[in-house]
Amino acid sequence: MKILVINSGSSSLKYQLFNMETESVLAKGLIQRIGIEDSFLEYENGSGEEIVIEKDIPTHKLGIELLLETLLSEDHGVLEDINEIEAVGHRIVHGGEEFAESAVIDNQTIKKLEDVADLAPLHNPPNIMGIKVCQELMPDKPQVGVFDTAFHQSMPEKAYIYALPYEYYKKHGVRRYGFHGTSHGYVAQRASKMLDQPLEELKIVTCHLGNGASVAAVKNGKSVDTSMGLTPLEGLVMGTRCGDIDPAIIPFIMEKENISAAEMDNILNKESGLLGVSGISSDSRDVGNAAAKGNHQAETALDLFNYRVKKYIGAYTAAMGGIDAIVFTAGIGENSIETREKILEGLEYLGVKVDENANNCRGKEVIISTDDSKVKAMIIPTNEELVIARDTMELVS
Ligand code: ADP
Repeated sequence: MKILVINSGSSSLKYQLFNMETESVLAKGLIQRIGIEDSFLEYENGSGEEIVIEKDIPTHKLGIELLLETLLSEDHGVLEDINEIEAVGHRIVHGGEEFAESAVIDNQTIKKLEDVADLAPLHNPPNIMGIKVCQELMPDKPQVGVFDTAFHQSMPEKAYIYALPYEYYKKHGVRRYGFHGTSHGYVAQRASKMLDQPLEELKIVTCHLGNGASVAAVKNGKSVDTSMGLTPLEGLVMGTRCGDIDPAIIPFIMEKENISAAEMDNILNKESGLLGVSGISSDSRDVGNAAAKGNHQAETALDLFNYRVKKYIGAYTAAMGGIDAIVFTAGIGENSIETREKILEGLEYLGVKVDENANNCRGKEVIISTDDSKVKAMIIPTNEELVIARDTMELVS
């Protein structure tokens, strides 16, 4: 069975075509700058052939048409007939309280997604657009939605209700939803396999540290708490997002700087985090290079980043009544030796003993704690696309 996985953003669209018999990627690509000048498609097929097509791509529909053409192309395509694609799986950022699991998409599902779109105004509308275009171009192929929020729907009320007037939850759905759920769920499952212990008996803190970053407390296979909230702004320090701050800072700065709510929102989401504190970049590698040269703000930005993750590990250990494993994933978690080292430093009291040699590695599944470490630390590369493809296959089979 061949399944196309689509992650449709506002101006970019990522895709992977899976052969589910072997769970291998037949082709993948990325369309950038949809609706903007200089749009292009980057494509790579299973034999490692890479091409770039520079072409005006004013709409998502033309983008998806182009990606299907590329998959069918005689020169570098991997399909002979579009009907070889048996289903399409879509990444959807916000499923609200409606979706605790992946779902086959019908008109009612789209209506429900449109109802929660104001919770993720930047993400859900382009996700929905991707679905509608695929329905139009492949009308007889089932479409499946896989939600970033779904895995966290198992959180208890005490973890997801904010201490605001309860009516805002009732009226507007203001609560913690959490994100990166597909990734947290996947790496927790892989951790149980690597440790050869049932997931139902494990307490795991999963640290998804990318440009967007979040931590989850996964107890007995279920998310019981997570650091992102109503939106992906809460929690850890991120590339450009501030994470946790005193909410009183917001009206204070708005008044002092005489700025609007929209401008403030932009500062919190786009100008803060590693970028805001370092004044250099949102990319942790650039910030690391500056810190190595003694740049104080860059050092502070990284210290803040690591310290925040460490605090969440402590908090979630308390929330779960113990901890068996700490998992690092995503761009920084998988690749930054120093970040992992700094986060785990000082957690010996908790039972974590880092194996420096094992930690000296990037991007592969490996246990980075010593054999006698009571709590296991590990690197597990995430694979959200594979989870989307698996869920899609399961739901359409
Ligand atoms: P996104 O949230 O956009 O998917 P990623 O998971 O790709 O983000 O993570 C991006 C982050 O990963 C960047 O801060 C980048 O610096 C970091 N990163 C990527 N590769 C490396 C590496 N080899 N060493 C250190 N950090 C890395």
